[in-house]
Amino acid sequence: MAAKPAPRKRAAAKPLHGSAEAPRRARVMNAKQAGDFIRALAAANPEPETELHFTSPYTLLVAVALSAQATDVSVNKATATLFKEADTPEAMVALGEEGLAKHIRTIGLWKGKARNVIAMSRLLLERHGGEVPADRAALEALPGVGRKTANVVLNVAFGEEAMAVDTHIFRLGNRTGLAPGKTPREVEDALVKRCPPELLRDAHHWLILHGRYVCKARMPECWRCVAIALCNYSDKVRVPPVR
Ligand code: SF4
Repeated sequence: MAAKPAPRKRAAAKPLHGSAEAPRRARVMNAKQAGDFIRALAAANPEPETELHFTSPYTLLVAVALSAQATDVSVNKATATLFKEADTPEAMVALGEEGLAKHIRTIGLWKGKARNVIAMSRLLLERHGGEVPADRAALEALPGVGRKTANVVLNVAFGEEAMAVDTHIFRLGNRTGLAPGKTPREVEDALVKRCPPELLRDAHHWLILHGRYVCKARMPECWRCVAIALCNYSDKVRVPPVR
């Protein structure tokens, strides 16, 4: 008797609106459309701010370093007690990895983050007199500080026109056709090139907030999007789903 053929494995269903690693891509916007898209977000929120709580360039740097793969809300909860005990590199080194860990255990990847924050604070003392440098290369040389973190610090603490591309902006750039790219760096470069110069300083706030609260990963809420007329995404969700 012939052996039965093995049952075929079903391919995993692709998420309809794409995933963080492979967001759905849309037709590229033209330059005017890209500028108008960012202008529409800007008009809806003229004074955008980071949602992370901080009181100095150093506390901003620590908060951003802690925020990788964690929500700003969870980081703010942890830093509310942490910064009472340690809001300078000296105090952080004195607190040590174990002392720091007590505050951040609720945040993902806390062990590695605790190690990095202590090592980074030590290097700030050794190389920069305890100050956060306003320099990309010096920032990226600190443990746990990559291009995205450096961009946030340069932008928010030092007023530079740096574009930090996180998971929300990466998805948005591809999904809408605003700034498609295979890597965060490609999306960053495209955004810097296409953003109206006068809006560049605040553009990353508008885009992060839009991706976080409206153009969400699982399902974009196009029915309440201020930039719907400018977006090239072909599967817009025009009415809220019935629950
Ligand atoms: S219309 Fe939809 S897909 Fe396009 S930017 Fe707005 S929320 Fe995102």
